[in-house]
Amino acid sequence: MASPTNLSRRHFLSGSALAVAPIALSGIGAGRALAQGAKPQAKGKIIRRKLGRTGIEVPIVSMGVMNADNPAVVQQSYEIGVRLFDTAMGYQAGRNEEMIGTVIKNLGVRKNVIIQTKIRVPRIGPNTPDDEVGARLRADFDGCLKRLQSDYVDILLLHGPSVAEMNHPGVRKALAEAKSSRRARFVGVSTHAAQADILNDAAKTGFYDTVTVSINFTQAEDTALLDAIRKAAAADVGLIAMKTQASGRRGGPPAPPVNHTAALKWVLRHEEITTAIPGYTNFAHMTEDFSVSYGLEYTAEERKFLAEKNLKAEMAYCQQCSRCVPTCPLGVDIPTLMRTHMYAARYGNFLHARATLDEIEESRRLALCGDCSECLARCSNHVRIAANIRDLKSMYL
Ligand code: SF4
Ligand code: SF4
Repeated sequence: MASPTNLSRRHFLSGSALAVAPIALSGIGAGRALAQGAKPQAKGKIIRRKLGRTGIEVPIVSMGVMNADNPAVVQQSYEIGVRLFDTAMGYQAGRNEEMIGTVIKNLGVRKNVIIQTKIRVPRIGPNTPDDEVGARLRADFDGCLKRLQSDYVDILLLHGPSVAEMNHPGVRKALAEAKSSRRARFVGVSTHAAQADILNDAAKTGFYDTVTVSINFTQAEDTALLDAIRKAAAADVGLIAMKTQASGRRGGPPAPPVNHTAALKWVLRHEEITTAIPGYTNFAHMTEDFSVSYGLEYTAEERKFLAEKNLKAEMAYCQQCSRCVPTCPLGVDIPTLMRTHMYAARYGNFLHARATLDEIEESRRLALCGDCSECLARCSNHVRIAANIRDLKSMYL
């Protein structure tokens, strides 16, 4: 279907990319197209599920707001029935939270919606005092509440922590205080990497109420992840699915076009998942994604898409499994670079791609990759590591 292609800077910024890039680059301001789309008709009863021990009940399709910059899309999402909005302090350098806060405040519906946001564990050195870690988390959370124009969030997530960070005493104390002071109704984690370990730990300790987990049809054979999802749900941890579309709406190259309703249904047919947060950015995609809330039966076309031979290979989706890391003699952080590539090439979110690159430890950064006559890194999931790294270098070095 699609052939491996070396994306150049020109490709990133041309063709279909032009439709998306300004969203991420401009933040809320320039993309403020307030014209409403035609309001979609309700098609029956919205399927709702309970989010584990939180008791919160929401429709099975929610909004991942990360790439969106049009407040009218957020507003109309609420009007068609979306009730959970996912954001993070780092999305669009805080403007994403500001947009949600403004829309929800203007609608006067704060009590009707579930807002989850994310803060990052600061880099913890062996001698960092617990109190300092807690103070930094509290300061970041203060900023979230200010931008969201609310005195509480429904779910406060640690953004992509390790198991050690989840259980760090300073981190635990700060989150427990956020809950006891009612500034966060519930706490959770989001995860891309070592997902089974994170889920198993959340199930074991009972400290985290929810996990926002990356899951899509390319992971159908990841039995460790699927088992961990089942165990976490059995322990009453609320599960929210992200990265459900296996790529942004731009698709390739090299990924083939995704059947987005099939992708969402595949995830949500796992009843352990309460809701999915596809990252739509416009009215058409909002309508398409939310249509799944009314029923999870596959159409013939959706079945055909999911049954395509070689689909996983063609998607070349990086599952963040880290198995490639030992194959690179320089220890470059290939999983994070592949995630960065997804944000840039498939989401068109260059700002978030840049921020993700900057998170990489200095000794494992993109700039260190270079002296191999041929890339030795290998991926068992068909990810084109060498080509993707070339793209990133053309963009960021
Ligand atoms: S590039 Fe491949 S091996 Fe490396 S983390 Fe991604 S899926 Fe795993
Ligand atoms: S070219 Fe490949 S093997 Fe060499 S440092 Fe870069 S990622 Fe590692």
